[in-house]
Amino acid sequence: MEEQVLVTNIQRFAVNDGPGFRTNVFLKGCPLRCTWCHNPETIAAYPELYWKKRLCVQCGACMEACPRDAINAPIPPEESQREESTYFKIVRERCDLCMRCVEACRHDALEIVGKPMTVEEILDEVERDTPFYSNSGGGMTLSGGEPALHARFASDLLEQARKRGLHNCLDTCGHCSWEVLQRLLENTDIVL
Ligand code: SF4
Ligand code: SF4
Repeated sequence: MEEQVLVTNIQRFAVNDGPGFRTNVFLKGCPLRCTWCHNPETIAAYPELYWKKRLCVQCGACMEACPRDAINAPIPPEESQREESTYFKIVRERCDLCMRCVEACRHDALEIVGKPMTVEEILDEVERDTPFYSNSGGGMTLSGGEPALHARFASDLLEQARKRGLHNCLDTCGHCSWEVLQRLLENTDIVL
């Protein structure tokens, strides 16, 4: 089976992560734990459960579906959605990430963060904006998380991007061996 890596987001029309219009690909997983991380959902290299309190109507369907008693009892939505509310839906210590609650929620208030994707699937998505890259000098920016954590996959992704004529940027903290970095750089146009 073709290798898959978890992707948290493929963000189109980015203008701050390299030249021109770009598509940012965020891989999930990072060896560092920076306090200021602006993509904390990309730190863990496994799928995570995200509760969107603004969409939650407190119907309780997720609680009924949960086999581990890991969902807090509903309270009125106007209370849970208050800015200063400390109410949180998921009891993380009990949750085993079975994701049954996500299927039970009919209001899109629960989401699995981290979608497994192959190199080909990612590039098919990135290629959709090729006309914008051509007109602006843009392309794909590979970010995270830390792409070097998935060295073989990231290297293949950069190489295949080039073969499809896509300019690429590698957004990395450089926290990896020289051998890994060298391999990545062989297929990279710009390092951020
Ligand atoms: S099922 Fe969805 S909308 Fe209902 S309480 Fe759970 S998270 Fe909120
Ligand atoms: S992922 Fe599974 S264990 Fe975790 S809160 Fe949802 S239903 Fe419960």
